[in-house]
Amino acid sequence: MAKYKIIYDRNNCVAAGPCAAVDPEHFSINPDDGKADLVGGKETSPGIFELDIESDEAAQQAVEVCPAAVIQIKKIE
Ligand code: SF4
Repeated sequence: MAKYKIIYDRNNCVAAGPCAAVDPEHFSINPDDGKADLVGGKETSPGIFELDIESDEAAQQAVEVCPAAVIQIKKIE
């Protein structure tokens, strides 16, 4: 059962890339625009993607390395 939610603001991603290096399970770089895609994420409003996850360990690293602060993790239970 999911315990955390990744919330990713793709609109403000600056295509820096380290999120995909530290957390390739959840982030991949889109070759078309160089921005990150949230793997398996659902677009909940334009450019905002969300994904429920069970452990925040790897995603937390993505939060820390993102220079644009566009990745958030919320505890949901
Ligand atoms: S680290 Fe942040 S700014 Fe860089 S690609 Fe990933 S989400 Fe976008």
